Amino acid sequence: MNNNDLMEKIVSLAKRRGFVYPASELYGGLANSFDYGPLGSQMKKNIKDVWWREFVTKRDDIVGLDSAIIQNPRVWEASGHLKSFSDPLVECKKCHQRFRADHVEEVKGMAGSELTTEQKAMIVCPAGGEHEFTEAKDFNLMFKTFIGVTEDTASVAYLRPETAQGIFTNFENVLQSTRVKIPFGIAQIGKAFRNEITPGNFIFRTREFEQAEIEYFIKPDDKESSKWYEYWIEKVKSFYLDLGMKKENLLIREHEKSELSHYSTGTSDIEYRFPFGVSELAGIAQRTDYDLKQHEQYSGQELKYYDDESRAKYVPYVVEPSMGIDRAMLAFLVDAYDESNGSDGRAAGEVTLRLHPKLAPIKAAVFPLVKKEGLPDVARSMVDELRRSGIMVFYDESGSVGRRYRRQDEIGTPWCITVDFQTLEDETVTVRDRDTMKQERVAVKKIATWINERLEGVL
Ligand code: ATP
Repeated sequence: MNNNDLMEKIVSLAKRRGFVYPASELYGGLANSFDYGPLGSQMKKNIKDVWWREFVTKRDDIVGLDSAIIQNPRVWEASGHLKSFSDPLVECKKCHQRFRADHVEEVKGMAGSELTTEQKAMIVCPAGGEHEFTEAKDFNLMFKTFIGVTEDTASVAYLRPETAQGIFTNFENVLQSTRVKIPFGIAQIGKAFRNEITPGNFIFRTREFEQAEIEYFIKPDDKESSKWYEYWIEKVKSFYLDLGMKKENLLIREHEKSELSHYSTGTSDIEYRFPFGVSELAGIAQRTDYDLKQHEQYSGQELKYYDDESRAKYVPYVVEPSMGIDRAMLAFLVDAYDESNGSDGRAAGEVTLRLHPKLAPIKAAVFPLVKKEGLPDVARSMVDELRRSGIMVFYDESGSVGRRYRRQDEIGTPWCITVDFQTLEDETVTVRDRDTMKQERVAVKKIATWINERLEGVL
């Protein structure tokens, strides 16, 4: 299957089964905006739940935060975003389309390879021939809005382009209200907004997206910084691998000096082999004491940590692992998509989403073998019980069991439970595994525990 076809198939499955819909479709849509449907919103929640569990719940040294999307505009002055959070923009003099200059350069370098529709649009001008671009100029990516009733400059505000700054501005609050000790982290998941010049590739690059970020505060020392930088690269990598992402699709790329953001002394991207090319999933940056010092300067308030042991007062350094939730979701969907060639007991063309059970939106489907002799009642009461345990389940009694399996395989449900005549005799059901297609009998009483054990609480 070629790469364009694979993306098309994923986009179409996502819409058909309720993972991701084009946004505002009723009104002709809004380019590059998406809504997450019943299955998609659940899957996205699962990714966030696993992240929070891994990096906040399970740890002693990281606390959570949920800061406002609209902050005092001075925050963005201090952070440097107002001045330098921009991408180089070029405009075609013939068709007036605008692109990111670095993306155009990248695509030019891909001559001879298979280009996506978006990539081709950067080369071929609809007015004929190739584009004729202007010189690149800086375009600030922050979305402007207004607070209050007058639209004057005094009321200008911005939608946050990253969640990180809300963490820095709450550094002192967290120090005062908790008993964290260095090294410690503050974690946040939330929406961020960027007026991207060239959004695209489905949910990979959108103007509204979700980030999961940690600012991990450490002693102000270059050696400490490199140690924690390496540590977080490994941790973030394991996050994806432990959720079943294929090792060969995950890459780590260290930024060249010239690519580094205005605040960073070292950054690595965790990249994924997407059908449209290898692209960033997450970034781990050494931000030194840049942000806290900027906020000290602009706010006039001290943002220092008092170290009991060394009796020293200092502005800590920070290492930041930052990932996009929507990009993670796309990568997990691509990674899990498996179309049978007919040799594995499935018919050719049948699709199985081999999602890790923790990510699967529906954990188990419950089927009565037939719609009579009390089997639906038994199945329904089992569904009620599983729901009471907090497990996402789906009840289905229509069509043959084979067809019911296929519907679940396509959305990644790891287990299908069938209530049959033997259930009435010995109170056991068959559990069929999506990947091995093997069936085992499990006692009705034990089924919730059986599922729970395999999910470690991510229900
Ligand atoms: P890119 O180079 O792709 O524009 P970036 O390096 O600017 O990304 P960061 O500022 O490091 O991205 O943001 C951290 C993470 O947030 C990224 O690794 C990515 O997963 C996610 N992210 C950033 N921009 C977008 C976007 N427009 N749509 C979806 N996710 C995004």
